[in-house]
Amino acid sequence: MPIADNITRLHGELPAGVKLVAVSKFHPVERLTEAYEAGQRIFGENRAQELVAKAPLLPADVQWHFIGKLQTNKVRMIMPHVSMIQSIDSLKLLALVDKEAARIGRTVDVLLQLHVAQEETKSGFTVDELLEAADAGQLQGFEHVRLCGVMGMASLTDDQEQVRREFARIKSTFETLRGGVLAGCDGFTEVSMGMSDDWPLAVEEGSTMVRIGTDIFGPREY
Ligand SMILES: *Cc1c(COP(=O)(O)O)cnc(C)c1O
Repeated sequence: MPIADNITRLHGELPAGVKLVAVSKFHPVERLTEAYEAGQRIFGENRAQELVAKAPLLPADVQWHFIGKLQTNKVRMIMPHVSMIQSIDSLKLLALVDKEAARIGRTVDVLLQLHVAQEETKSGFTVDELLEAADAGQLQGFEHVRLCGVMGMASLTDDQEQVRREFARIKSTFETLRGGVLAGCDGFTEVSMGMSDDWPLAVEEGSTMVRIGTDIFGPREY
């Protein structure tokens, strides 16, 4: 189906209040423009160079979300372009993002990435690590990052119950933080989970933001 139809269909299927991030990695700018013209405004990229190359080619009201493994030496490069970094996977990265945002006089939205999947290759805080860091006050005191919620991925498996359990774990960790240490943090509202293959389950388990690539743009050519 044409990209515009996919965007329209997804916007129709997603419950009100669930945001759609169009994951445009590896797709050329013309295809992003098609999505933009169909009303899509949030785009997700997972490589710094690619995001920086594409950002100036789309209208300024696009919100760019960084969703990939972020190397410390790439933070400075993406900082002028991103509205949100979804993939904060360490306290060191959080502190660096805060510092680089301060350096250019801005504030950036971030999500804390949780590792709940079985694959070792996925990154993120374990649930215990994140809750311990929260209890130790290590998530607070940053002036140039806005903690907006959590992000996570489920395992690549056909076992729907496992996927559901992993999403539920992301959601409950979010609730623990929101009900505890981050209770005073007004903007802490987002649970980013769900991709092309599993977003309906993620939405059932409380996702507020889905990240969809293949279902919008078709398969990626690496
Ligand atoms: C690539 C990617 C997606 C989108 O995956 P699709 O299966 O194409 O929808 C979502 N989230 C992250 C973190 C990704 O890297």
